[in-house]
Amino acid sequence: MVEMPMAKMANIGRQLSHAGTVFLDALLPPQCPCCGAMEDRQGNLCTPCWSGIRFLEAPCCQACGFSFPHDEGEDALCAACSRRLPDFDKARAVLAYDEHSRSLLPRLKHGDRPDGVPAFGQ
Ligand SMILES: [Zn+2]
Ligand SMILES: [Zn+2]
Repeated sequence: MVEMPMAKMANIGRQLSHAGTVFLDALLPPQCPCCGAMEDRQGNLCTPCWSGIRFLEAPCCQACGFSFPHDEGEDALCAACSRRLPDFDKARAVLAYDEHSRSLLPRLKHGDRPDGVPAFGQ
């Protein structure tokens, strides 16, 4: 058996990955996973969909991540968490579930569209 250097094996792996991407793009042309518009790369959101996504960030409940309209302080809790602390220490959602993200999530979870996975991963 001939042993290959690790660098050569990694290069072959990258070439196979690229060939797989080209094949996948030919079989399933890249589309925005939100609205289905044609895109340059698998998993890319189109500009209108991307600009509609509302990412969640501070200020928020320090336990569940519920968004606050104003800064309530670093240790602030929402009404639900104030009544009863959740069983977890901290949870955060990346984006708001609204009219823009609503069509994105079911396609990923139930639409047999794994091409949206890279967008969520990033
Ligand atoms: Zn779109
Ligand atoms: Zn909360």
